Amino acid sequence: MRIDPRQIPDGGLTLSGSLPVVDYDLPPGETQGWDKIRYDLHLVRTGKEVTITGTLSSDFKITCSRCLDFIPWNLNIKDFCQVLQVEEDSLLDLTPLIREDIILALPLAARCELDGAGRCPYSGRVFTPSDRDDFAEKRRATVWRDLDRLKTEN
Ligand SMILES: [Zn+2]
Repeated sequence: MRIDPRQIPDGGLTLSGSLPVVDYDLPPGETQGWDKIRYDLHLVRTGKEVTITGTLSSDFKITCSRCLDFIPWNLNIKDFCQVLQVEEDSLLDLTPLIREDIILALPLAARCELDGAGRCPYSGRVFTPSDRDDFAEKRRATVWRDLDRLKTEN
C-alpha cells in the first residue's frame, strides 16, 4: 500500500478498504480462505512526518492446534500506529509495516473454544480435561517416546 504524501490534505486523510493478502507475502501457515485485509486508516501530515493510525482486520480459517480442524479466526489490530518520514515527496510504502503488524498478531497456536461438555464446536470431538490443554505436550512426549524406542531397538 503506497501513499503519496502530497495527497494528504491539512485536515488529514481517512482511507478505508481492503488489501489483497497475496501482495503481503504473509506466511501461508495453516490458514484457509485468507484473501483480504480490511483497513481503516487516518493519515496526518505534520511537516516532514506522516502519522498513520487506525485498524486492520481480517477473517479467515486457521488450524486449531487441538483438533487440527480449520476454525474461523478474526485477526484484529485495533492500534495500528506508525510515524513515517517524508523524503522528497516520494511515496510512503505502508506494505512492510502492515505485513509486520499482521505477522505479530497471528496466533502461535489457535484453539477452538470448547463448550461446557468439552466439545469442539467445529469438529464435534469431545476432549477430556486431560486432553484439553496439553495436546502439544502429548505430541512432544510421543516424539520422545518414539526416540527412546528407536534407541533401544538399535
Ligand atoms: Zn477444535
